Amino acid sequence: MEQPVVLQRIDVDHIRQDFPILTRTVNNKPLVYLDNGATTQKPKQVIDAIIEYYTQLNSNVHRGVHHLSQLATDAFEVTRRKLKPFIGAAREHEIILTKGTTESINLVAACYGRAFVGPGDEIVISAMEHHSNIVPWQMCCEERGATLKVIPINDAGELDMDAYRSLLGNRTKMVAVTYVSNALGTVNPVKEIIDLAHGVGAPVLLDAAQAIQHLPIDVQALDVDFLAFSGHKMYGPTGVGVLYGKEKWLEAMPPHQGGGEMIKEVTFEKTTYNELPFKYEAGTPNIEAAICLAPAIEYINAVGLDQIARHEQELLEYATLRLLEVPGLRMIGTAREKSSVLSFLLDGTHPYDVGVILDKLGIAVRTGHHCTQPLMDRFGIPGTVRASIAMYNTKADIDALVAGVERAAAMLL
Ligand code: PLP
Repeated sequence: MEQPVVLQRIDVDHIRQDFPILTRTVNNKPLVYLDNGATTQKPKQVIDAIIEYYTQLNSNVHRGVHHLSQLATDAFEVTRRKLKPFIGAAREHEIILTKGTTESINLVAACYGRAFVGPGDEIVISAMEHHSNIVPWQMCCEERGATLKVIPINDAGELDMDAYRSLLGNRTKMVAVTYVSNALGTVNPVKEIIDLAHGVGAPVLLDAAQAIQHLPIDVQALDVDFLAFSGHKMYGPTGVGVLYGKEKWLEAMPPHQGGGEMIKEVTFEKTTYNELPFKYEAGTPNIEAAICLAPAIEYINAVGLDQIARHEQELLEYATLRLLEVPGLRMIGTAREKSSVLSFLLDGTHPYDVGVILDKLGIAVRTGHHCTQPLMDRFGIPGTVRASIAMYNTKADIDALVAGVERAAAMLL
């Protein structure tokens, strides 16, 4: 076998020391964590910040005059301040802190839908969307009397861009697509998608849940209207996510939920709403998660997204070559532009059985439909085994995966 050259441009050994969980064993085997698409592990900088929050800062934000409340509020706003350059936003108040990608997309589908979608209108999504970017739009269409249109994909898992062009028209009120497919790894041509949608006057929402931790993103360069992602998939805590929205849309849409924080003045006759971003942040947020997203952003910045992308691409190429040598292994998702996801099937086996054997070997992968049932239907399969790579993964992790898959083949076939 020809050995591909793997250039370790980032110091993975050093990085791994920052992630305490990577030193534990599972089933008496060293943990090989390849379920990063579901959630990433956390560096000690994030874990320490959580402890620091509860031992030094715990207090409600944006409300109190007392010292702790001010400290917590300042720390909360630091995260928003760090997110602005991280995604290239023009204004801090275009960044809404939510629970995660799912809540961010639901917010847009509900609020944009109420303001801008009516009977006969069309919403365009793609065949490779996560349920979180399908169901909110189905609900929106049902409520507003609109129709959902779906961009088809080819057998490699790439969008059919000619079909996309033909779906666009003056009824198109929104294009909502994923930047990177969680089940296939496909990186979509988002700039072209956005430009074409803008050509018919439609805004674009990008689901960046699987992109934000792998690729540098600049919302202004993309000219994207909405961007959604989750903290827990980018080395940060669960329970916090981001909705970026262009000011003009966030101003024009009605609020999502009513309650504390999103009001300016309440009387029984009428309520006026707070300014951005608070208009969309009703109720007590997940304060510690929001605050502790900041060290995750700092961590990614310190390693560098370009470096991370290069390292992950090298592992992706190595893993693809090695896995394809396993007899009977079929890769699902072979797009030319791919991120670090390896979805596969082993002929004559069920993905679940492969996953259980890998788990016995201490290897964490995901099996099933990956919340993309229509995509699995498109390929005529019940699901796949999915290994997804993060910055701390190594060639040794991939070797363990390949050996595990070979072992599963020997046991199951
Ligand atoms: N979109 C994509 C592409 C995803 O991969 C996921 C999670 O796996 C989501 C949306 C939903 O993210 P969350 O559960 O953090 O809201």
